[in-house]
Amino acid sequence: MTYTFVTLFSNLIEGYFKDSILKRAIDKDILKIKYLNPRDYSKNKHFKVDDTAVGGGAGMVMNPQPLFDALDDLKSKDEDVHIIFLTPVAKPFAQNDAKRLAKKNHIAFVSGRYEGIDERVIEKYADEVFSIGDYILTGGELASLVICDAVSRNIEGVLGNAQSLEIESFETPLLEAPSFSKPKNYEGLSVPSEYLKGNHSKIRSLKLALSEAKTKFFRPQQLLKHKVQSH
Ligand code: SAM
Repeated sequence: MTYTFVTLFSNLIEGYFKDSILKRAIDKDILKIKYLNPRDYSKNKHFKVDDTAVGGGAGMVMNPQPLFDALDDLKSKDEDVHIIFLTPVAKPFAQNDAKRLAKKNHIAFVSGRYEGIDERVIEKYADEVFSIGDYILTGGELASLVICDAVSRNIEGVLGNAQSLEIESFETPLLEAPSFSKPKNYEGLSVPSEYLKGNHSKIRSLKLALSEAKTKFFRPQQLLKHKVQSH
């Protein structure tokens, strides 16, 4: 998988790939990371990439020209690139999207800054638009990284233990049961006693009950879905 980050601030992104799981995936040639800066395509003599909003309104909006040229250049090199724009005004990104997008060969993430991107760019180039939640970030870089990370975990070879994918929250309507590590007692706090007794069918039933309790508390709508599916 190749990811191209279309951003004015690639240094905000680069550090994330310098350690841990995604770095190992890059070292193994499973992932390739590229950057494209719209400012490099600006025809303005000062390399400006933004201007005041037509029709009024506070703040600056990213101009079409540098982004049109950057994205045309990207598409001329790979016509199959899947272009995703990050914007708070979009469908919320979810685990199903992560799994689906993991099958692509090349994804480009276009990050807005300032008050956002001229809508004509999105209309012309977006294959998809995603929000990562109902709040406003200063730019799309973090949102791109969130999606890139979630997609990458679903690409074969990225995770050391692929089994961990199957038991995670959002693979089923139920949220994952609480996890505990060692020691079994820490500062007077014990892990649930059933976890210690080695009876795997009892541990499974306790985990299911704890999953249901968590889901009921945090995502009541999902618990209803689980009940419908398991009847
Ligand atoms: N004026 C815009 C609005 O009210 O909808 C917000 C623009 S925001 C300050 C600048 C950029 O950050 C956006 O163009 C987008 O790329 C990114 N961004 C902010 N919040 C986001 C979110 N929740 N999900 C995805 N991208 C987001």
